[in-house]
Formats: sequence, C-alpha cells, structure tokens
Amino acid sequence: MFKTDVVILGAGAAGLFCAGVAQQQGLKVLVIDHYPKLAEKVRISGGGRSNFTNAQIDPQMPHRHYVGQNPQFARSALSRYTAQHFVDLVKSHNIAFHEKHLGQLFCDRSAEDLIQMLLKECETGASCGEVQRWQPCEFHSVAYSDAPHSHYTLQTSMGSVECQALVVASGGLSIPAIGATGIGYTLAQQFSIRLTPTQPALVPLTLGGPEWAPFDALSGLSLKASVSHGVAKKKITFDDDLLITHKGISGPATLQISNYWHAGDRIQIDLLPEVDLLPQLIALKQQSKKTLSNELTTWLPNRLIHAWTDHNPLWQKSMADTSQKALESLALALKQWSLLPSGTEGYKKAEVTVGGVDTRDLSQQTMESKKKGLYFIGEVVDITGWLGGYNFQWAWSSAHACAMGLANQIKRL
Ligand SMILES: Cc1cc2nc3c(=O)[nH]c(=O)nc-3n(C[C@H](O)[C@H](O)[C@H](O)COP(=O)(O)OP(=O)(O)OC[C@H]3O[C@@H](n4cnc5c(N)ncnc54)[C@H](O)[C@@H]3O)c2cc1C
Repeated sequence: MFKTDVVILGAGAAGLFCAGVAQQQGLKVLVIDHYPKLAEKVRISGGGRSNFTNAQIDPQMPHRHYVGQNPQFARSALSRYTAQHFVDLVKSHNIAFHEKHLGQLFCDRSAEDLIQMLLKECETGASCGEVQRWQPCEFHSVAYSDAPHSHYTLQTSMGSVECQALVVASGGLSIPAIGATGIGYTLAQQFSIRLTPTQPALVPLTLGGPEWAPFDALSGLSLKASVSHGVAKKKITFDDDLLITHKGISGPATLQISNYWHAGDRIQIDLLPEVDLLPQLIALKQQSKKTLSNELTTWLPNRLIHAWTDHNPLWQKSMADTSQKALESLALALKQWSLLPSGTEGYKKAEVTVGGVDTRDLSQQTMESKKKGLYFIGEVVDITGWLGGYNFQWAWSSAHACAMGLANQIKRL
C-alpha cells in the first residue's frame, strides 16, 4: 500500500497548481489522472496561448464576473490569491505575456510554457515536500475510515493508496473527448455533499423554428452586438462579437450570455448597440431617395438586412414611402431582437460547466467539504467565471486556498 499525505484527483489547472503549493508547504502529494496527456485544457485554452487570468477581476465583488448559487463564496480565495499573485509567478518563470482587450492576459508564445511552469512548481525544493504523478491511472473507488486515524483509501489501476486528505480537482463535464468525466460529482454524492444542477456554459446557443428560419442561411456572418439576458436588476448585457453559425449563434457575446441562460429563457440582441436608430431613420425618411434596405447598409451587412426585410413588405419600400410605424417596428426589431434558443451545443462544445459541488457544503477558507479531509477545487465547484481568464483564476485561487488549508490540517495531525 502506497502512503502519502494528500491525493489530488485530476492533473488539470487546479490539481497541478494545488500540488505545487502543497509540496512547497512540505506535504507529500500524489496526483492521479486517467487521461494520458497532462493538463490538456490548459494546452488548448485561449487558442493555444492560454488566457490565464484577467487583470480586471475584483476579488471583493466576485458576483460581477462569476456565476453560481453563491458567487460570493469565491471572495475569500480570490482575495488571498489574486490575479496579481499569479502574474508575479508567471513573471518569475520568465514567461512573456500580453494583455488583450478587457484585461485578458495571454502567453506570448504558448500555453505549454504555463504547463512547464506548473510542473516546475511541483519539483521538490527546500521544503522537502514532494509530488508524484500517476498518469494515466484509472481511479476505481475510495473509502473513508477514522480508525486508527482519519484517512482515505483509494483503489486505482496502479494499486492502492492511503492518504490523509483527498482533493477532488477533476473539473467539469465539458469536452469529454479530452478526459472530462463526472467523477467529482459522483464522489460528492458518495460523501453526502450537495450538488447544484449542472449545464454546459460558455457554449454556443442553438436556434430553430419559424422565428429563426429567415436567418438560417447567414452562417458565418459576424458583427458587433449587445446580447442580453434577464430583466430589470437581473438584466446582464455583453457587448462583443456575435457570430451566426449553422446551428444558431456563437461568438464571445453569446458564450458569455450562455453562463446565465436556462432552457425556456429568451435572450435579447441589439444589432446596433451604438446607433440610436429610430431618430436616424425618421430623419432619413424626409431626405433620402433610397430604399430602406439601402439605407440600412450604412450600419449592417447586406445579407442580414435582407433576412429582415425580405419577409415584411412594409420594409421593402423607399424611405419616403415607408410609414413611421414601419420604421418604429423595424428599429424595435433590430434593437430588441428577442430569440428563444432551443438549447446549447452541449458539453462537446462548452468551455465550462455551470453548477457542481454546492458551496454551502464547502469551507470558503480551505475548500474542505463537510466531510473531514475531503476537498473540492476548480471547476467541479459551483463557481463559473466569464470568458476572459476568470475560470483559470478560480482554479489557481481555489487551489491555493486548499493547499494552505491542507498544510494547516496535516501539520496538526
Ligand atoms: C477549449 C477551452 C478553452 C478554454 N480557454 C480558457 C481560457 O483561455 N481561460 C480560462 O480562464 N479558462 C478557459 N477554459 C476553461 C478552463 O480550461 C477550465 O475552467 C479549467 O481548466 C478548470 O480547471 P480544473 O483543474 O478544475 O479542471 P481541468 O483543467 O478540466 O482538469 C481536470 C482534470 O481531471 C481529470 N479527470 C477527470 N475525470 C477523471 C477521473 N475519472 N479520473 C482521473 N482524472 C480525471 C481530467 O483528465 C483533467 O486532467 C477553457 C476551456 C476549454 C474547454
């Protein structure tokens, strides 16, 4: 029987980072992962350059960039290990990076640099801690015992392991083809830890039926738009690129809104967020000799205009002959386009999973669950960030909180 202080299940972003920090605290750590390639999501993230954090995260106000039943839960971890801490670490490894728009930080060269950094952090130093990794290794089962002392015994394809603490860092359900499984949720259930409902997020939305039929043929068309969900105080809007696909809509604005969307919800799209359209159309009605469609080309792609105007004879006239009522209805349609998505493109295409391990059953200081010695970190927890580096920062911060908590717990024993 192999014995160690801590087993971390999952050698992804959170698991590897937690292993490094824990060994620097003098702990002996075993990381287990069933997928043959290391940290594959880090490798493919940010188009291969990894958007590893975001300079605009406000740790005091996690609800601004994170969703979940209680985004405030993330405050403690995000405040104690901030984006700046991670940036300092990246700099200390001489990894060149740059800021894209909205505070998004990317590696200049490759996400591989980040993986090498995570591995180097796992190398034994003066602390005498150590990290071993069993990969690929199938996890079979785990049992808890408190005799003669509190510990977990795991059965794996590489043998049995005994540890004082088990950290579940197995991520969410998105992209099963590169190793995602629901093992974290199964383990939570085994130890009576509550779960919140999961669904694919940062994912394209699918559309169909008669209201989408005129736009079906526009696949590939991209434009700046405002996409909104909810009403009044709960309304959230993203101004970014919107892409029409052969299944519905995608692009950053759609991915962001998908974090908030639930089956049956409508979304609103403003196709001209920077244009006060109606007064401009009314002014043009007095002056222009062109058709309404022609005038709209000032602001929108021709194909999109025709998808709107071709099915309504009231919008197919010259500006002078178009009634004010018709202009009002068109301006409303373009500025408050209401759509009912039929669904999402699912976990195959989702960047993350919304929902997961219920934060009510976790300590926000240490990420330990109400089951002694059992911790959950990263995406498996019901904290999901916006597109733009927020999810990795949650992985780093929750992993750090956990590693420090482990050091305290295990030193006490
Ligand atoms: C295409 C894509 C691009 C992304 N780009 C970005 C980005 O640029 N910025 C950003 O912030 N976020 C990005 N994300 C999200 C980000 O990758 C995740 O939020 C982050 O990786 C979560 O870290 P984690 O350690 O919790 O889970 P993961 O990194 O998913 O790691 C989980 C690990 O657990 C292992 N595992 C799963 N099941 C088992 C099992 N049964 N037995 C053993 N091991 C198991 C997996 O093999 C995996 O190695 C992207 C996601 C995708 C899919």
